[in-house]
Amino acid sequence: MLFSELGLSAELLRATRKQGYEVATPVQQRAIPLILEGQDLLAGAQTGTGKTAGFTLPLLQRLQQSEPTNQNHRIRALILVPTRELAAQVGESVRTYGIYLPFKSSIIFGGVSINPQITQLRRGVDIVIATPGRLLDHIQRRTIRLDNVETLVLDEADRMLDMGFIHDIRRIMKVLPARRQNLLFSATFSRDIRQLANQLLDDPREIQVARRNTTAEQVSQIVHPVDKSRKRELLSYLIGDGNWRQVLVFTRTKHMANRLSQQLERDGLTAAAIHGNKSQGARTRALADFKKGKIRVLVATDIAARGLDIELLPHVVNYELPNVAEDYIHRIGRTGRAGQDGQAVSLVCVDEKKLLKGIEHLLKQDIEKIVIEGYEPDESIRPVAIKNGGNKGNNRRSSRGQHPGGRPDSRSSKRPNGRRGANARARARNGSGGTTSRSRRAA
Ligand code: AMP
Repeated sequence: MLFSELGLSAELLRATRKQGYEVATPVQQRAIPLILEGQDLLAGAQTGTGKTAGFTLPLLQRLQQSEPTNQNHRIRALILVPTRELAAQVGESVRTYGIYLPFKSSIIFGGVSINPQITQLRRGVDIVIATPGRLLDHIQRRTIRLDNVETLVLDEADRMLDMGFIHDIRRIMKVLPARRQNLLFSATFSRDIRQLANQLLDDPREIQVARRNTTAEQVSQIVHPVDKSRKRELLSYLIGDGNWRQVLVFTRTKHMANRLSQQLERDGLTAAAIHGNKSQGARTRALADFKKGKIRVLVATDIAARGLDIELLPHVVNYELPNVAEDYIHRIGRTGRAGQDGQAVSLVCVDEKKLLKGIEHLLKQDIEKIVIEGYEPDESIRPVAIKNGGNKGNNRRSSRGQHPGGRPDSRSSKRPNGRRGANARARARNGSGGTTSRSRRAA
């Protein structure tokens, strides 16, 4: 279905054409007419489905219809998002699609000075895109008025709940007018999301669109069993040996993301870490460099990677398995490119066997296990329980609304030998290295 068939205004159609978009994605086809009718909506859609335009376009149109000249600049639409990156991206979309409309928008998140935000708000804006923590700051300082909000969007609501934002969301709801349109977007519909939807939405319509990638078809998944102490070495080897040029690597914690990125740099690979403790500038720079190909390996925590608008990648590596099985699907949904296969590789040590079982149970399939020669796990190492650091199990968040993170399990397992070390480093530096890794199936 074309955008031109969805009842959008000439200004909005012009803006979508400017982006080169003619055909609406499934979530857009279904959400846009419902939102234009003024319905409340519960939408199951994740990053990459085109959901942002799916709510931004009709939201702008409703503002345009109800007050076309727009002289007052009162906040009439509020979009709540879990992370700064997503706030920046959604803000960009609001500007992009609203380019031929007179509305002003403002992006509000923590970790940066509050004063420019106050100045902007004082001058008057129509649309606010905000993370909950900083928005509450503004509410408490009385630097924002939300009593004219007509439309509320909760984007990536499941993430907001995972990050412990539920109380902030409830407090924000209290200062909004009771009569308003509510749109809730979430990648998954857990019990908590259903509960939030029940409290928030009025007779909602429900839509669900397929994930960008439901694992099996486009993404080949492989597990390499390996000792924890040799994961870094194996990763460098795989990148160098396969001549992978753009790799997104996931760790469970910020600490591990930092450490790994530094170690990879020492192996001769350009790498950067992206997580909640990095300044906004550093995160934006790392992402831009990764997209341009200046950085070969981007090491990210789940929360930091969520909502990043990175084109689908050929290689995603789970350096550490996530504590929560659903995050595995989010992670590997980043790989696979139009028509091409993507590869999701998981480096799994003995401590993570239980997590792997949980993931396989969720996927309803076993993932192929391949032991790389020279990196055979030492069978004598006993598993150690993994603490819930840096993932969903730990629901408290820091005052800035960032993901809590935590220290990784610092136990170092016995290192069998260092046979691959020098080779791996040399291959990583040389790019392809020319040899194919010999491997054999795990028993
Ligand atoms: P989102 O799911 O909102 O994060 O969007 C994912 C990407 O798809 C963004 O880069 C959008 O610019 C792009 N996009 C959104 N709508 C369309 C469309 N109808 N056709 C092609 N690309 C789109």
